[in-house]
Amino acid sequence: MAGDPSTPGIDDFTRPYWEAAAAGELLIRRCGACGRPHHYPREFCPHCWSEDVGWERASGRATLYTWSVVHRNDLPPFTGRVPYTAALVELAEGVRMMTEVVECEPDRLAVGTELTVAFRTGEDGVSVPVFRPAGPPQGQSSSRSHSPRSARR
Ligand SMILES: [Zn+2]
Repeated sequence: MAGDPSTPGIDDFTRPYWEAAAAGELLIRRCGACGRPHHYPREFCPHCWSEDVGWERASGRATLYTWSVVHRNDLPPFTGRVPYTAALVELAEGVRMMTEVVECEPDRLAVGTELTVAFRTGEDGVSVPVFRPAGPPQGQSSSRSHSPRSARR
């Protein structure tokens, strides 16, 4: 897959990340020295500079932090995808990542919207993490459970 300009940079260091993505798992890095996670993947901890950093599977849950609807992007492969929602999300683990929100009308998004990770495989065969709204579609509350009192005596 080398040479494709739309392929994210994959090298020996980031390979586990992309292999996990292909398997539907999101990985983050966590420092063994200070215990803090980070993203994007780096070979050392950006908080304490320790190199004692390992991969950890993220829950895949996130909340929306900020976003922007992109209507024009002349760079392939984005040209054919506009409009799309570029977003910064905060993972449940406490790290933020740049991504894209899918399967949701932009005007239904709000800060704090609960999201869950999904994966999109591009034409180059590389799966990239994107996020979609978590749980059932909003609008009608299905949580109204008036369970009739069981007439037990
Ligand atoms: Zn650290």
